[in-house]
Amino acid sequence: MNCRHFGKTGQERAHRGYQMAEINRILVTGGAGFLGSHMCERFVKEGHDVICLDNFFTSQKSNVAHLLDCPNFELIRHDVTLPIFLEVDQIYHLACPAAPGHYQFNPIKTIKTSVVGSINALGIAKRCAAKILLASTSEVYGDPEVHPQPESYRGNVNPIGPRACYDEGKRAAETLFMDYHRMNQVNVRIVRIFNTYGPRMHPYDGRVVSNFIRQALTGKDITIFGDGSQTRAFCYRDDLVEGIIRMMNGPDDFVGPVNIGNPGEFTIRELAELVIELTGAQVKLVQRPLPADDPTRRRPDIALAKKHLDWQPTVTLREGLAKTIQWFQSIDLSHYRPPTPNFV
Ligand code: NAD
Ligand code: UDP
Repeated sequence: MNCRHFGKTGQERAHRGYQMAEINRILVTGGAGFLGSHMCERFVKEGHDVICLDNFFTSQKSNVAHLLDCPNFELIRHDVTLPIFLEVDQIYHLACPAAPGHYQFNPIKTIKTSVVGSINALGIAKRCAAKILLASTSEVYGDPEVHPQPESYRGNVNPIGPRACYDEGKRAAETLFMDYHRMNQVNVRIVRIFNTYGPRMHPYDGRVVSNFIRQALTGKDITIFGDGSQTRAFCYRDDLVEGIIRMMNGPDDFVGPVNIGNPGEFTIRELAELVIELTGAQVKLVQRPLPADDPTRRRPDIALAKKHLDWQPTVTLREGLAKTIQWFQSIDLSHYRPPTPNFV
């Protein structure tokens, strides 16, 4: 990435007429991950001073390697469950394993990451009077009895099931964000992200889009869990990143939670058929047991995002999958490894 002109101070950059309203010091926790790396990239390009904090549990340095030479980018290897002192203006708090296989790898660590990690991130926000955004999830709705899911729906989560470490962790994180907001006047934002896919997602994260594309491209059978009639609504990463940034920079009286996702709803079988069509793969669909507590349907109600952020997705599943497949074709799968064992 060409970042020659980013070595200036904020004042110098502003003086030289760069197209920026304001230069911020931005911390992205989980910044080396799938979504975090795209956020870092965008902020570096915009000329902000970016700190990417990550312990590389579900990611690798290669996701941000192209930013390392930029003077306005800094990479810190750190576990968000441990305190850290940094001076920043905005915090995008993304650090947390997101794929079921990743977050169930060490469930205790997952809930610690959500709860203790959020307390640490909120502590920085409080001390620096920084604005802070939580990457929450549609999983707070559990296996929803209301469809599509509006933010007012309080969810149907099994608190003792295998997904609870993630679902309840994020629910507790939302609670912490609102309590820091009410008690300490921290300027918070909460975004509930629905299934998002795109280039740089971990090819072995076990999520449905990465599994199906990898299986199709390597000539393996496509694994449908259950009968494939369960639904998800898939959002392309560019749409998602735009929605998150609009939320961070939106009006202070709209703290959320807000759903950010694509309301186009597909069965898992339909997704498999589309991946086969787009890759031209000669592969079969095979059924595997449905994991416990797998939500039967999911689709965001995005009325709030439209109203307050003037945001809605623009990339169709067909377009987004085509771009994602192209990226999968360009990578060397042997460069990716499963999550690092982490028993802290
Ligand atoms: P990801 O796994 O690619 O990124 C998460 C990043 O957090 C990784 O780089 C990982 O190494 C880092 N991390 C994990 N534990 C950490 C710790 N203790 N300390 C420091 N870093 C840590 O996943 P993603 O899809 O980019 O998700 C980013 C955020 O968005 C997560 O908080 C996730 O819960 C949320 N989210 C994502 C989706 C989605 O579909 N991608 C859906 C809902 C919510
Ligand atoms: N799934 C599947 N085959 C796979 C991986 C996932 O059929 O190889 C299903 C899974 O059971 C779920 C849906 O696809 O119903 C989405 O799974 P994912 O792990 O991507 O995310 P979730 O939305 O469940 O967190």
